[in-house]
Amino acid sequence: MLVNGAVVAGKGASTAKVRSTEEFEQIRVILQSRFEELDAEYEEAVAQNTRLRLVEIGDAAGDDQADSGSKTAERDAATSLLRTLLDRRTQAEHALQRLSDGTYGNCEGCSNPIPVERLEVFPSATTCVNCKQVRERRAS
Ligand SMILES: [Zn+2]
Repeated sequence: MLVNGAVVAGKGASTAKVRSTEEFEQIRVILQSRFEELDAEYEEAVAQNTRLRLVEIGDAAGDDQADSGSKTAERDAATSLLRTLLDRRTQAEHALQRLSDGTYGNCEGCSNPIPVERLEVFPSATTCVNCKQVRERRAS
């Protein structure tokens, strides 16, 4: 984890309104390292998944029902982890893209600025809380 970067904040009270280049750079570094973390985790999960499948193929012959049931559960868990990691990675990548486009920090739905507090908690957020809820309602 990187904590060092956070110390920089607080020296320029006059630049409170507009997000400074320095702040954007900080966000970029955070997002980049998050992306790399997720990327590594994803690769690891893919490898794990492949191993599971190989083991499965390898000893499928001698399986009874209970065995193959727990293996299916294990494989499902691995698959959903994979999907979650991929989602998060895509999100971080997307936020990085918006950062370089200069659209970062504005909601993709209503184009209002996303509250800084939200971005601090979720640097990869590209919508405000309202639009996120609307989207989730639509998706379900
Ligand atoms: Zn919005």
